[in-house]
Parts: sequence; C-alpha cells; structure tokens
Amino acid sequence: MLAIRPVVAVPEEPTMTMELTDTTGMPAPAAAQLAAVRTELEQQRRFRVEQLEEAEVDAAEALAAADDARLQVIRSLFITTEAALREINVALARLDHGTYGTCEHCHQPIPIERLEVLPTSRSCTPCQARADIARVRRGGHSRRPVAGPASRAASAPSQ
Ligand SMILES: [Zn+2]
Repeated sequence: MLAIRPVVAVPEEPTMTMELTDTTGMPAPAAAQLAAVRTELEQQRRFRVEQLEEAEVDAAEALAAADDARLQVIRSLFITTEAALREINVALARLDHGTYGTCEHCHQPIPIERLEVLPTSRSCTPCQARADIARVRRGGHSRRPVAGPASRAASAPSQ
C-alpha cells in the first residue's frame, strides 16, 4: 500500500458531554433527542389529562342517569388513561433526574429508536423480553400477552 492517504480525521469530541454518556459504546440519546422526547411526553400528558377530565364529566352524567353500561365503559377508560398518565409522569421525572433512557435492569442506554416508538420505556428490549417471559412463567398477567407455547402451558388447567 504505497498510496499516501490523508490521516483520517478523528471525530471531534462532543463539546457538551452529558452524564448520560457512558463507556458502554452505545450512544446515549443526545440532548436534542431528549428534548424531542420531552415535548412528545408533555403533549401526551396534556392529552391524557384532558381525557381524564372528560371522563370525569361523562362519569358524572352516567351516574346521574344511572347508566351502568356507560359507567362501566367510562371506568375502564379512566383506569387505562390513569395508568398511561402515570407512565408519562414517571418518564418525565426520569428526564428531570437524568436517568431517562437508561435501562432500569441492566443500566445500559436504551436505544433511541425504542424510545422514539415507546417514550415511556424504562428498560431495553432484551430486559423487557426477559421480564415478560419471567412474568408468564410466574403465571402473572402480562399487559401484552405473549402468544405461543408458553401462554398455552400457563393456561393449562393442570400444574
Ligand atoms: Zn436492559
């Protein structure tokens, strides 16, 4: 190799090193990405708060009308909305504390692609999968049931 090539430029050191940046080799979400996630989460929070307020009004009406069927629907909407709001608030608190984007289990950075799809994720995909499998094995209820032999075995009457 006689061709003389210019020395490949070493990528510039980022001027702002965030505490989220660690030594695992996987890039932690950049500040701009975190800002976008915060905006998204705040929008989702406003949406959920409005949903809860509407559900409260609807529930009052259904109660006044003694409309049990409608009350049941509103109640389940209320429960899922409240749970979603709780997840959003946890994610926002993690943003405030600088722990956002780090897996709760293995403490590795959660890929930004996952956070963009699921901004309330608290764990990386492998840890989430392990937790889901462990929950199925314990016979617990997964929010997203895993189809396949494991769930069939779990629902079998014997054992
Ligand atoms: Zn993990």
